[in-house]
Amino acid sequence: MSAITETLQDSRKIVIKVGSNVMSTPDGHIDREAVGSIVEQINVMVNDGKQIIVVSSGAGAFGAGAINKLVRRKDVHYYQALCAIGQVEMMMAYKEFFGRNGTHVAQLLLTRDDFANEDRTLHIRNTLFTLIDEGIVPIINENDTVSVDEIKSIGDNDTLGAFTAQLWNADCYIILSDIDGVFDKNPKDHDDAELIEEVYDIDGLLQEIDISGKSSFGTGGIHTKIEAARHLGVYGIPTLLLNGETKDVILKARSGEVSGTGFFFND
Ligand code: ADP
Repeated sequence: MSAITETLQDSRKIVIKVGSNVMSTPDGHIDREAVGSIVEQINVMVNDGKQIIVVSSGAGAFGAGAINKLVRRKDVHYYQALCAIGQVEMMMAYKEFFGRNGTHVAQLLLTRDDFANEDRTLHIRNTLFTLIDEGIVPIINENDTVSVDEIKSIGDNDTLGAFTAQLWNADCYIILSDIDGVFDKNPKDHDDAELIEEVYDIDGLLQEIDISGKSSFGTGGIHTKIEAARHLGVYGIPTLLLNGETKDVILKARSGEVSGTGFFFND
């Protein structure tokens, strides 16, 4: 059994981060099917006794779709406005899909700074634990109105997800992106890129791979994902990078049908 499969089978408390590429089509429109597919997988896991927190990007694409405007990420204020519009649309989609199974969702808009403040961290923690106790799925996104880190391509949701996994003491952190995992070079630019399935040494990995180039709608690229994994490694929490565009990817990874990149840490 692969280390990824074993981690997914053994984990009870799981944080799942869904990337903007997964939530939107290549032309920047929303992908409702993707939301539906993620929710279905979460339902299966919840029925198996797992507890899930979602960290979801994609508000910008939902906003652009809602008012039928193009995504103009370079114009930061305009993009913040799109995110404010799209956050509602995105939550409506999650509510609709989770609602089919009778599950309630809750929205938490956070910033990286919130995790640097002791009082705020305590409030976040208490709210999360209460929601989970009530069987509700918390859906976290960066508060794009007060922070522009995610918009300005720093990939803050990767980081927010890692902070959340740390705060909640999750058993594992899953990042769903539009690639199968970390490759030795960008798979979008190189057909012969090779997937790295298990990482135990992040500095060693960074020396071996080329992480240049990135997709048009994604933020942060692969680097913030690797740094998120490094952050959680300190707490012994594994990070799994899987392709959110592969149907049922988490369930398939759990049964060993598909692979990804797992970041593991020797105690
Ligand atoms: P998301 O929106 O899902 O957070 P990002 O676009 O921020 O995703 O980051 C993932 C992207 O990183 C991939 O689509 C890929 O183009 C790029 N990338 C660059 N180098 C690598 C590499 N060595 N391995 C995997 N992906 C890479």
